[in-house]
Amino acid sequence: MNEQPELKFPTSEDLISQIQFDHENGKIWLDEQRMLLIHSAVMGSLRKELVASLGVERARGFLMRFGYQSGMKDAELAHKIRPEISTAEAFLVGPQLHCIKGMVNVEPIALEFDVENKEFYAEFNWHDSYEAEVHINEFGVSEDPICWTLIGYASGFSTYYMGHKVIFKEMQCAGSGAEHCKIVGKTAEEWEDQEDLERCLLPDPIVEELFALRYEISTLRENLVDSRSPSDTLLFNSVGQSKAFKHVCHLIQRASSSSVTVLLQGETGVGKEVVARGLHQTSERSEQAFIAVNCACIPPDLIEAELFGVRKGAYTGATHSREGKFERANNGTIFLDEVIELSPRAQAALLRVLQEDEMERVGDNQVRKINVRVVAATNEDLAVAVKEGRFRADLYYRLNVFPVNIPPLRDRVDDIPLLIEHFLEKYHSMYNKKTLGVSDKALQSLIHYKWPGNIRELENMIERGIILTDNNRSIDMKSFFPSLAEPSHPLNIVKGTGELCSLNDAALIAEGNTIDQLLSNDFDLNNFEQQLIERAMDKSSGNVTQAARLLGITRPQMAYRLKK
Ligand SMILES: [Zn+2]
Repeated sequence: MNEQPELKFPTSEDLISQIQFDHENGKIWLDEQRMLLIHSAVMGSLRKELVASLGVERARGFLMRFGYQSGMKDAELAHKIRPEISTAEAFLVGPQLHCIKGMVNVEPIALEFDVENKEFYAEFNWHDSYEAEVHINEFGVSEDPICWTLIGYASGFSTYYMGHKVIFKEMQCAGSGAEHCKIVGKTAEEWEDQEDLERCLLPDPIVEELFALRYEISTLRENLVDSRSPSDTLLFNSVGQSKAFKHVCHLIQRASSSSVTVLLQGETGVGKEVVARGLHQTSERSEQAFIAVNCACIPPDLIEAELFGVRKGAYTGATHSREGKFERANNGTIFLDEVIELSPRAQAALLRVLQEDEMERVGDNQVRKINVRVVAATNEDLAVAVKEGRFRADLYYRLNVFPVNIPPLRDRVDDIPLLIEHFLEKYHSMYNKKTLGVSDKALQSLIHYKWPGNIRELENMIERGIILTDNNRSIDMKSFFPSLAEPSHPLNIVKGTGELCSLNDAALIAEGNTIDQLLSNDFDLNNFEQQLIERAMDKSSGNVTQAARLLGITRPQMAYRLKK
């Protein structure tokens, strides 16, 4: 062991001479490393913000790792400037640089180490720690030691220097009321709480925790949906009298008796998930899990892990192994909405499930057998996506074994009254309300509306209508279409009588219709003109020329009206 009875710093000249201020080029150098001169108070602000946004524990880890990196860089320099690394003089480069950088005044107490045999013990007193000062300024006196960047530095320096994990611990700290800070360093395995100490030095991305929380929420949500599912099954089984929908039901009943992969095609909002759930409920798998995934809602680089699970350490941030949706759906049904959004890797993995009934978690090579019925859905034409090279042809053929086209709502208008009844019941009970239902005129317009958003749009409208309508009142047209005054609103093609004209005539009639509507209320031309002008100015962000163009008048005319 290398023992110094009397520990003193050697001269710092060799270190200080490494510092170069190259102000003409905007640089400060320490040997060949670019350095910064930063206000210590700014470090205080950074610390405050970190604690506020990450909490004390995470901020502590973050700042310790920050110091750790800095210590490693300086150890690199120590080896270069004082290459006799078995001498205390060489090791003391670290504590001396800590002083030179103005971070803390280090007083060496004990230092014994043997690089070859990986033995290490050190004690230092720290006086006037910058970190204790800024911490007390921002937070007051702390209960625990708080020289996080400094202690990180000591550990990083010593670990790099020794080529072996060394951990320093602050035994007392000026930030928690001691006269000065005191630190002790030992090899990691000599600390009883080695694991806790080392954990602080590991990256701890908050993003992983967010994913875990999101996973939890989606599980809770799925359970919630499960408890609601009887009504959805009802929806599927009974709310469909139209020929178009009966045909869908017939196909689904056929499919439910086998485990065939089903591809649901249809516009957005036609109720593909409800159909998938209906398929699951009427199949032999109904007692098992039904897992719905909207592939468009998951970032492409995460989708594989989300679907197939991940092994701890598979990528930065994967700090826990976890199962994916497929494993959770085992023996049940998985519903993959917007399947066209799957990344190429996820497409390959899905193909493997369909062909071999097996899968692997991301970063894992354990093959897992899996028994899942896949119901995929898309509102785009998959065949076109295959032609354009966006979707694997072999996967398309596997998915397209049993295609079912779900008709848009406008092709099953016979079902609209039944659907309305269904949603009225659902939202009356959800909001604990009882309206008298939809007024005749409103019903007329709902039946004739073109429903670009299909059943989902209808459901949203009924919900909104119930919210806006008092108990024992009928839901009127305005509650369904609050933005009726918007000239661009599709329902402006509804005539005053509640009938709709064809879309082609709509543009022609819209003009006359708007005027009729205007004149039927308390109309004020000046007020109307003022509103128009304000609106045009808003739309053109205050640009008078552009606003004038919107209104079809000249700039001087516009300026005159504005003045008025
Ligand atoms: Zn301290």
